[in-house]
Amino acid sequence: MRIYISADQEGVSGVVHREHTSPQGYDYELARRLMTDEASAAVQAALDNGATEVWVSDSHGGNTFRSILLDRIHPDAHLITGGPRRLGQLEGLDKSFAMVILLGYHTMHNFDGVLNHTINGQAVHRVTLNDVEVGEIGINAALAGHFGVPIGVVTGDDRTVAEAKALMPWISGATVKWYLSRYAARCLTPKKAHGEIYQAVTDAMSNRKRLKPYKVGSPIKLRLSFKETGSAESAARVNGARRVDSHTIEFVAKDMETIYENCSAMVELWQPAWGAWIRGH
Ligand SMILES: [Zn+2]
Repeated sequence: MRIYISADQEGVSGVVHREHTSPQGYDYELARRLMTDEASAAVQAALDNGATEVWVSDSHGGNTFRSILLDRIHPDAHLITGGPRRLGQLEGLDKSFAMVILLGYHTMHNFDGVLNHTINGQAVHRVTLNDVEVGEIGINAALAGHFGVPIGVVTGDDRTVAEAKALMPWISGATVKWYLSRYAARCLTPKKAHGEIYQAVTDAMSNRKRLKPYKVGSPIKLRLSFKETGSAESAARVNGARRVDSHTIEFVAKDMETIYENCSAMVELWQPAWGAWIRGH
């Protein structure tokens, strides 16, 4: 049985600031160790509950998907690192996997939570799929659902677990920190956080029959609203993208794989008005 772990960083216990999530940050080296160790706890739980192969996808865009430490991650994990890549936070996922774990995730831009954002905190204001607002949890759940693979576990702050359960009541959530503000949280120590993650993965794997792939009906209408009009102008260059108002692009496709690829491309065309190229976190 193959298990896929998509590991982001903003939802890891102890991570509350750009100084953690940016490679130039004072606390980045600490944050990547904390992230790596939370991922390792999930790998161990998957292996202890019947997994024969566990992939860990480094899914934190802040350093182009290169935050997890290969010399520190669980020795039996397969690590997907670096980017850009076609399927971003779920690169390599296909129908052969039994379950996806979203580890260290965060709330969407318009929902309070620690370091909340959607895809790129500096560029994107809102994303909807068939008029339902989604963040990275919903977007990745819909892509996993396209392959028939359910999300089994979501870990992060308490608000992130709430957002995930509102969309997918069947998931097991591991709360490793509690929201106080966008840049503050009450945090578990790594040992306790690993225990929560281990338990949530164990619960999901022993109740796999209750999990459902998250499906978005076809055709799928993506609406992508940017913070700046210039970003919408750039995104409109993608073939098939249509500008529906000053800040918003609409793109319609039959399947989620096409939506996902084009959504990533449109966000990556983003340029801030002041001309610098700064990747989102
Ligand atoms: Zn991230």
